[in-house]
Amino acid sequence: MKKYIFILLTIFCIAAISCKKNRSSEGASDNAKSNSNFVTLKSGIIVEKRGNDYFLDGDIQLTPAQLKYLDEKGSFETEGGKKITGPEMSLNPITNLPINLADGTVPRNLGINGDPYRLWAMVRFTYGSSVTNNPKSAIIRAHIKQALLEIQSKSNVRFYNATGQPTVDPTYGFAYPYIEINYVGTSSDVSESSIIGRNPAGGKQTINLADFAVFYSFDPRETYERSDYATIIHELCHAVGMMHEQKRPDRDNYVNINTSNLKNPAGTSQFQPITSNYSYFGSYDFNSVMGYSSLTSSSSIVYDVNQPMYTKKDGTNINQGTTLSDLDRLWLNQYHIPYIARSDVYRELDATVYKTDNTIATPQERLQFQASLNNGNPNPPPGGQIPNNF
Ligand SMILES: [Zn+2]
Repeated sequence: MKKYIFILLTIFCIAAISCKKNRSSEGASDNAKSNSNFVTLKSGIIVEKRGNDYFLDGDIQLTPAQLKYLDEKGSFETEGGKKITGPEMSLNPITNLPINLADGTVPRNLGINGDPYRLWAMVRFTYGSSVTNNPKSAIIRAHIKQALLEIQSKSNVRFYNATGQPTVDPTYGFAYPYIEINYVGTSSDVSESSIIGRNPAGGKQTINLADFAVFYSFDPRETYERSDYATIIHELCHAVGMMHEQKRPDRDNYVNINTSNLKNPAGTSQFQPITSNYSYFGSYDFNSVMGYSSLTSSSSIVYDVNQPMYTKKDGTNINQGTTLSDLDRLWLNQYHIPYIARSDVYRELDATVYKTDNTIATPQERLQFQASLNNGNPNPPPGGQIPNNF
């Protein structure tokens, strides 16, 4: 397997960055030409400003730290960030995750509460009031649940439903990192969006799901029907660190960008390649749930919605994947461990543990891994599991 040795992003960073201010990035110049809310950063990366928030590619909300680094360095990294530069002995052989727990602020439970400075352990999430108080709450939740379960069944990513639970650790006082999942209906200024990875600053980050993300209506120009939750999967994958497939640095070997149909900067900015601090695996993945379809219905992005934004080299159209492809799964399995929610500090693994090549660990391998995560003890204390329903 060909592996790009670009380094992983923000989500690996230990950063003590105030999430308060610096939303405006010094040096970022407003795009005078279009008089739109697009901003060209010093690095040349074009981002979109909506209210006080900045977005990349339409649906990726940037943290202040991400915006700052995109501005200054053109890459995803946070100040004081700790990069994982490739396989090393401090990483778990199955996951490539650092397994040192003695880093000062060990949370009470690594699974459900997460660590404020690192990757997600379990992805702590809540349903926002826009979901729970909505007249269509049951069906919205059902579709979100389908997406959550789909990701869990095909990868090591695990979610923990913390709706109604504390947002600040009562012992250590830090804000738990968590995702609030919102339903924004047909709101025009927010479509669907997510922050990339876990905000190292901790606290709440949001996924905003538009009507079309939750209630899919068939586009007859597409050759197949998407599900009511494919877009939700896409946004959840952003939240665990994944970027768009069409931004691969080597994508020009696989696709042709139809620049004459792309409006500048709304369309062209969606195809600015990512050249650093992110790992793509394998070759271009036309089945990725993170790739865009060739056709878009958004006339703010293209001049002609019946013409593609980009195509395969043979001129045929690309359809966004409807669920996790093998390479999507491979990416997720590099960086996640399938925890079971517990009330104690024991790190219990789910029955199925994927290795970094997507194969399933044998029962013995699973137990060995579990022991390695728990000072050599492979046996969870009885009674520690807690409910975790979506
Ligand atoms: Zn996206």
